Amino acid sequence: MHELPELYLYRAMLAERYAGARITAWNFHDKLVDGDGMEEVIGSTVWYVERRANHLVFHLDIGKRLVLYMSNKSYLFSGAPDDHGCQNAMLTIGFGDDRTLAIYGLNKGDVQLLSVKAVEEQLRGYGLDPLDKGFNGDMLRKRLSKKRSSMKAALMDQKTIAGIGAVYSDEIMFAAGIRPDMRANSLSAELWERLYRAIVSVLQEAISHGGITKQPMHDQDSLSGGYAERLQVYGREGEACKRCGGTVSKVLASGRKAYACLSCQLEQ
Ligand SMILES: [Zn+2]
Repeated sequence: MHELPELYLYRAMLAERYAGARITAWNFHDKLVDGDGMEEVIGSTVWYVERRANHLVFHLDIGKRLVLYMSNKSYLFSGAPDDHGCQNAMLTIGFGDDRTLAIYGLNKGDVQLLSVKAVEEQLRGYGLDPLDKGFNGDMLRKRLSKKRSSMKAALMDQKTIAGIGAVYSDEIMFAAGIRPDMRANSLSAELWERLYRAIVSVLQEAISHGGITKQPMHDQDSLSGGYAERLQVYGREGEACKRCGGTVSKVLASGRKAYACLSCQLEQ
């Protein structure tokens, strides 16, 4: 799945370019994406685009929602219909003669046209959004502090907190100075507060530097992927820690691999 910063940036682009726009064409790659029965989106207007966990939800004026699940293989490109970046997409959505949204890397079932009620039922199981105004350190501690799993697994549990995956969980724990294999139920109150602040600051900084997906969202996009070179630990096994000069290691946390600097991150 794409993690929160990437979804945030996609949503911002979609809201800026397509809010208020009318869908005039709908073409899907019939071998790869099941888009049958969704032609009723043609003629509808996008009112609003929402980010919900790992989904982008288009609110349409026909009383339905177009729901796009963003796996880590999918990406979007916004351009003119004849732009190179809009060719061979699995789904293209036309907005008049000059604007196309091309969606790549979709699997069957990743695109759905649902009633408002069905969207709520389907996405009800996801946890808190860490950028929600109501999210705070206390809430984080209450939700995670009884878990016996590693901190890495606890942070990646989409039913508890939505939008943090393999990459940002490692970066967050590095920023907080907490080992990924530490058990969630062993953190002190002070560490929960530090973890909360790290979640918010890492996600916001990733957003401000374009996230880690290097695939451009449109022809003028020079921001996307800018955070990839700022990663402190993820994917950097054997390289020098940018903070202390020690070595970044790979550790196992509840069976998941995680990257950490064991000098900067606390012992269990
Ligand atoms: Zn270090």
